[in-house]
Amino acid sequence: MKPWRLVTGLLIVTALLSAPAAIRPTAAQALPPWMEAYRPAMLPDFVPDMAAYEDAPRYTIDLAIAIDEQGVTLTGSQSVIYTNRTGSTPLDEIVFRLYPNLESYGGEMQIGAVTANGEAVDPALDETRSVLRVPLAAALEPGDRLTIKLDYTIVVVPGLSRLYAQFSYLDGVLALPNAYPVLSVYEPGRGWWDETAHTQGDAVYSETGFYTVHVTAPDDLILAASGSEVDLVSNPDGTLTHTYVAALMRDFILVGSTAYVSMSGEQDGVTVTLYYDPARPEAEANTRAGLEIALNSVRHFNAQFGRYPFAELDIVQTPTRAGGIEYPGLIVITDDSWNREDVFFEFVIVHETAHQWWYSLVGNDQRLDPWLDEALAQFAVAVFIREQQGAAAYEAAIESFRSQYNQYLERFPDAVIGQPVEDYTEGGAYFYLVYQKGPLFFADLADEFGYDAVIGMLRDYFAAYRYEVAEPQDMLNSFEATLGEDLNPLFEEWVGPFPVG
Ligand SMILES: [Zn+2]
Repeated sequence: MKPWRLVTGLLIVTALLSAPAAIRPTAAQALPPWMEAYRPAMLPDFVPDMAAYEDAPRYTIDLAIAIDEQGVTLTGSQSVIYTNRTGSTPLDEIVFRLYPNLESYGGEMQIGAVTANGEAVDPALDETRSVLRVPLAAALEPGDRLTIKLDYTIVVVPGLSRLYAQFSYLDGVLALPNAYPVLSVYEPGRGWWDETAHTQGDAVYSETGFYTVHVTAPDDLILAASGSEVDLVSNPDGTLTHTYVAALMRDFILVGSTAYVSMSGEQDGVTVTLYYDPARPEAEANTRAGLEIALNSVRHFNAQFGRYPFAELDIVQTPTRAGGIEYPGLIVITDDSWNREDVFFEFVIVHETAHQWWYSLVGNDQRLDPWLDEALAQFAVAVFIREQQGAAAYEAAIESFRSQYNQYLERFPDAVIGQPVEDYTEGGAYFYLVYQKGPLFFADLADEFGYDAVIGMLRDYFAAYRYEVAEPQDMLNSFEATLGEDLNPLFEEWVGPFPVG
């Protein structure tokens, strides 16, 4: 997420222990047969990463999109294989999140038949209708798995624009984040995550999984999605069925428009594709500039933080009222800023691309610890600027954050960067303290220990937590291990009390 405010100015080395030839594996670790279908979603070097996630959730979704004068109706059927990975806690319910029902999304999602291992169950909804609790007849023991099937429908109201117009059908653009029941996160000691407040920032907290998604849609709807499209079938009724696979991603988003055309490039094996409306002024030249920015972002962040493992990254123009929003494998950028003359265009593409490293790959609870991904995505913009333009430009970018933060301090009291989203209330506190002060934390670490040391800390942190969820304590521990210094005082000063929440 990059709130809509103009900002002025702007190797993982795996040590293989020598083993006697007789027992050294002669081939890469074999994948379970079901994982073979997900190869196209990963770059070849990262296919073996999947093997460690045999117990990750496995979604299979059939989704039909119908568009008429009345509106948009999605009819879905989802099967998810879920394994109890708590280690020690039997689970007597599984919790899904129905994000379209949040007021901030403005959709209407209804759940039909639900079964657990083939047995009909009667799930319960909370008052926001965004927390669906599926009771189990017998507790799911640690290590055991089950299959839950859910039928559902979602109505998308045309023209309705809530909060960031994140989930919407506006100007012919159908934006469908979280258009399926998303497994919530079971946190040992806390239980199932069921936060429903969403007044600002990002709403979703989820874990890495595998997705096979069949989308049946009008044949003139051009779709962009997380993951990779592996099949396309024409149906007798004139619709098309697209099949996507996504591996080791913590969410799945679809965006469609009949107007979209695409432009692609490649960086380090990653296909980067921009989807845009060609009828806008200078659309092609603006998109070409955007593609260049995106390719340079992937290049620099691969080199500085560690490689992006997925085959594709999509960047999609939408009417969102956030400057941009990050999703795994896909980011949306507001059409208002899709303009190479707009200083925000470069900033927001770089920021959202950085979220592929900080949020999509290294996940976090975006409600409780928004700084973990937002402050890092902001700092990553300064890293990008340094790689493109040198150290003086990096310092200028940091000073730009500092100047914004100082403007806030003239009017409001200071606060730490590590608060939950809801605790930032007055005067744009969330924007100024998380997005402007936040990156100053990493800049301060660079001033104290050296810029290269900070990059080293971020590389190790990325290597340790990619595909996982990190908490502030994890970042602290990881940074300390890399640096060999006690960072508690600095974390306490900047981030606040530990552990947070
Ligand atoms: Zn962001």
